[in-house]
This record gives sequence, structure tokens and C-alpha cells, in this order.
Amino acid sequence: MPVDRKKNSEQKKSDSGNLRNSLIVFLMWLLFLNLFIWPATNYKVEPYSKFIEQVETGQVAKVKIGSDRIYYELKSEPIDDRSPQDLITIPVASDTQLPAILRKHDVEFSAIPSSGGFFNVLNWIFIIFIFWVLGGWLLSRGSGGGSPAPFMFGKSKARIYSEGSTGVTFDDVAGVDEAKAELQEIVDFLERADKYIRLGAKIPKGVLLVGPPGTGKTLLAKAIAGEAGVPFFSISGSEFIELFVGIGASRVRDLFEQAKKQAPCIVFIDELDALGKSRAAPSQLTSNDEREQTLNQLLAEMDGFDPNTGVILLAATNRPEVLDPALLRPGRFDRQVVVDRPDKIGRQAILEVHARFVVLGLDVDLEKLAARTPGFAGADLANLVNEAALLAARNNRDSVTMQDFNEAIERILTGLEKKSRVLNEIEKKTVAYHEVGHALIGALMPGAGAVEKISIVPRGVGALGYTLQLPEEDRFLAIEDEIRGRIAALLGGRCAEELIFRKVSTGASDDIQKATDLAERFVTIYGMSNKLGPIAFEKTQHQFLEGYTNPRRPVSDKVSEEIDREVKAIVEGAHYIATTILAKNRQLLEETARILLEKEILEGEELAQQLDRVQSPAPMQQWLETGQLPPGIVLSKTTLNGKQKPKTTV
Ligand code: ADP
Ligand code: MG
Ligand code: ZN
Repeated sequence: MPVDRKKNSEQKKSDSGNLRNSLIVFLMWLLFLNLFIWPATNYKVEPYSKFIEQVETGQVAKVKIGSDRIYYELKSEPIDDRSPQDLITIPVASDTQLPAILRKHDVEFSAIPSSGGFFNVLNWIFIIFIFWVLGGWLLSRGSGGGSPAPFMFGKSKARIYSEGSTGVTFDDVAGVDEAKAELQEIVDFLERADKYIRLGAKIPKGVLLVGPPGTGKTLLAKAIAGEAGVPFFSISGSEFIELFVGIGASRVRDLFEQAKKQAPCIVFIDELDALGKSRAAPSQLTSNDEREQTLNQLLAEMDGFDPNTGVILLAATNRPEVLDPALLRPGRFDRQVVVDRPDKIGRQAILEVHARFVVLGLDVDLEKLAARTPGFAGADLANLVNEAALLAARNNRDSVTMQDFNEAIERILTGLEKKSRVLNEIEKKTVAYHEVGHALIGALMPGAGAVEKISIVPRGVGALGYTLQLPEEDRFLAIEDEIRGRIAALLGGRCAEELIFRKVSTGASDDIQKATDLAERFVTIYGMSNKLGPIAFEKTQHQFLEGYTNPRRPVSDKVSEEIDREVKAIVEGAHYIATTILAKNRQLLEETARILLEKEILEGEELAQQLDRVQSPAPMQQWLETGQLPPGIVLSKTTLNGKQKPKTTV
């Protein structure tokens, strides 16, 4: 961590900031004096009409006409040392009769040069100065620690971490061994460039790190700089995009200029997608000239330098699919390194890295924790360790125990426990049956792992209760029947409500959303539907980001209708199966819900005992495997409304 360096530069920044502030105050004060105090001390301003009147009645002796004011002297009060007041009036610009009137009344008059006066010139100097200082202040505020000198619009804001000062090494990055191995080569090149050049090898010009958020891409880039001991320029893609067209481009130019001077070095562009979005992106209504210019400049710069000079361009993104194809062609970012979510061994290694600074209790088993956290990225794991430590501190413990870690996992998965939200009796009962419904179906379905805990203590923003089901192993592929089973488990809560109360609540909306999404993916992305076949109906645009929906490929109305029908059939089939299971296990459902209502949390041995008793109905296996309900079963139209139980005509 470059803590010291940062503090230092912040210190410097605030020093120069103070200086600038006092300068501004001083100048403002001067300006104020100049405008209001100094000139006002000796003059008295009279209305123009009064002045004319005084001229016409012959009281005025002498007049000096300036562009914006007239100085005059009365016969009765000649200006000498004893009279402190000059008289001034502001002339009416359109009055061209004045000289004639003055001549008529025999007044001595002369003109004074227009921009005359020392103070006028000073005013301008002050005003310019103040704009200069203010501009510098605004700019330096925007650039976050860049040079405070004003008028440096085009200068690159790349922060330079000099030799080794990122303080991060490969030891701080764990669980992404393939990526590390690839990048090791770059470190090697920076250290022994001549070896490669002698053999005629060309080092890749640009290396693109791609992967989901929080997997350590930025961290890896910093580690490379730390390992290679060369200057490291880091800038985020969004920092190139400015209000004014052309500034981003000049910033790119400047960045590369600086880099070439400091070679060998590494230039790291984080969040490349902000600047390298495809110029032909279909979602874009208007073209973005600024971004396009910046991108073009980047492409030009990348062509313009020889990697053997020792400048290596590194970039990171979690949306490689939106990047302009020109960026990815050979000779530019010709090497892509995937930084993916870690597997179990990787997670354990990452936990070890972050647990270095934490006092661990004797019972903490990082391997077990790694097993319980599939899908967590490096950032999630770092967060987990920190949350656990915070919990331990809150409970005044000497060390962080396994219990803290388990609580932290739940916190991250489901949000904070809210003991204060009070449910009324009916709500509580509904939630209890709902959760037990999830648990019973979940226990029976393949692939989702064991149900570990059911709780009706409200958590997070929306969840009134939850069922925690943690997989025992990492899964990289899901089989058809597991997805069907997952959908059924999601609907289990709603089915239990229907079965017991004959009425449904709004509590299942999130489950229904998820179940429908999953069914849609089943058909349109995984190509698992028998009717529609292995055809993708969506364009994958978010490879690494979850929770985005992809646009549909253009399909005919007929196909579109078929997709809808198939999605509906899958969800309804799952609903039917879940209802059938719960109906068969109704006694168990009621008994378990009663225990849950009493204890609020059900876990461990007691929960396992209940779930062991779930019985599987005969048609389930067939449905899981084929999606076909046994012949003779007619799904009622109102099944999903829950007003009626599914009818069987057997
Ligand atoms: P990304 O740039 O891929 O979105 P970051 O590199 O910013 O992710 O990671 C954020 C934080 O998460 C890091 O500062 C680090 O504490 C932690 N982290 C992420 N991945 C790893 C990893 N592979 N090993 C150790 N820590 C990691
Ligand atoms: Mg990042
Ligand atoms: Zn639910």
C-alpha cells in the first residue's frame, strides 16, 4: 500500500492549496479596495440633471470629460487643498449637446484619455489574475492530485508510481495462477529485454486482463509494476473522457509521450471499456465524438510504438464484448488473459492472503470456508475476512472465530439481520411456511447442495425470511434436471403458501422473477428446450457481469410465441412438481413450520432430521429428466394464480 506516498502528496497538495487560498483572499481584498474605497474617498457623485442645471445657472467653473464620468468644479468651491471633494457626474451617453451647452455658458472644458488611470489597468490585471488562480484551483480539484498549474487541459492525469512503489507483489495476489504465469513473462521481459530482442522475439504490445468484477485485475496490474521495478503509469479509461472534444485524445498522446521518455515502463489503462467501446455499438443513439477521437488516438499510439523499446500496455475490463474490434486485433491488445473467479483452492489461497493481518481463532478452518463460498470473487473474500473481523470486534472477542466467519457469509449473501422489524402473527406464519416450502423442495432436488439453515428473522431490505442452501462443491456445469430442480425449489415457497392458506402473498415475487429468468435462460441461452432445440435466441453481451439481460436475436413472431409458451410450460411444470411434493409431504411441512415459528431459526442436526423425512413422489424423476409431466395430468389454467390446486384426471 502506497500509504506514505499518498499522505505525502496530500500534504503537499494542501500546502500549496493554503498558499493559493490566501493569495486569492489577498487579491480579492485589493480589488475591493481599488473599486470601492480608494476612488470613493475624494469624489461626490451628483445626478447629471443637477450638473446640467448648475452649468445653466452659471455655477460651474471647469469640466473634465472622461468616457464614463465627468469631473467638475464649482465657482463657489474651487478645488484646493482644503476642499476634500471633487464633484463627479455620470454623463448620459446620448447627450451630444453637452459641449454646445458648456460653450454657451462659458465653462472651461477638456477631455481626459479614456482608459486612463492607473487603477483601471490594475483592475484588469487583478481580474485576469483571479481567473487564472481560480481556474488552476478548479482544474486541480478535478484531476485529483494532478499538477495544480492551470491551463494544463491536455496533460495526462496518469499517476506515476515509481519503482516498486505500488507496494503490491505477486504474493498479494492469489488464486489466479494461470493469469500470474502469463504475466510473469512480461515481468521477465522488462527485466531482461535484451534476451528476447537477441532471439528476435517480439513481446506482445498490449495485454488485456478480462474477467468479472473484483477478481483482482487491478491488483494484478499493480503487482506487475511492483515485481518489475519499473515506472507504472496508471489511469482509468473514464478519466480520458472529458467534456471538451479533443482533450481525451491529447491526454492519450501526452500519456504515451511521458511513457516513452521513461521506458522501460508499464502503462495501465483500467476500465478500458469506458473508452474503447465499439464505435458501432448498436445501443448508442448518438455518436460520441469525444470518445471516438480518444479511441482513435489510442489506436494510433499503439501502432506507433515499438514494444521492444520497453513500453508495455496493460489494460483491464470486465466487458470485453463491447470493446471495439480494432483494439483486439493482432498488434494491439494481442494477448488476452482471463482472470476468472477462483476455484476452491484459489479461494483458500486468497483467504490466506487476507487473513495474514487478522488474529484468527484456533477453530478457523480456511479450507472449510473456501468450500462454503463458491462463486465468491477475490474482492468478496477480502470483504468476508473484514466483515468477520468487524463482527469479532463488536462481540469483544480476542480473535476471529469460525462463528464470525459463518455469520459474515450470511451477511454477505442475505444482508443484515434486522431484529427490530416486527412481523404480525399471520405474516410470520406465512413466511415460515414459505421458507419451509423452499427447504423441503430444495432438499429433494439434485445439484443445489444441502439446506443448511432456515430463518424467519428478517434480513436485508426485502427478505423476511430465508433458506440458506450452500453447495458442497464448485460446479462449472449445470445439468438440465438441476435447472428444473432449481426452478421448482424457487417456486416451493409460493406453492407452500397456496397449499396451506389457499391464498398467496406478495412475498414470492422475487422467487418468481428468478424462476422465470432461469426458465428463459434454459430455453434461449442454454438451448435445452426440446421443442426449440439447441439454438441461442439471445446475444451474449455480458460475459462476465451478472444480472444483465441480453437482447433477443431478431426472431419471427411465431418463434417468439413458441419461446414464451415453452418458458411458461417449464415454470408451470416446476410449479406442479413442487405442489405435488409438498402435498405428499404436507404433514412434514406443517410440523417443520411449527418448529420454525417457535425457534425462528432452524439449522444443524435438527433441520437435517426434518429434511431426511421428505418423500419423493413418483412422477418427479421423470419430470426432472425429460420435463414431461406424466400422461394424464392436465395443468389447470389457474395453477399459477394459486386459486386452485392442479387437477389430475387419473
Ligand atoms: P478488479 O479490478 O478485478 O475489479 P480489484 O483488483 O480491484 O478487482 O480487487 C479488489 C480487491 O479485492 C483487491 O484490492 C484485493 O484486496 C481483493 N482481491 C481481488 N482479487 C484478489 C486476489 N486474486 N487475491 C487477493 N486479493 C484479491
Ligand atoms: Mg479494477
Ligand atoms: Zn422465497
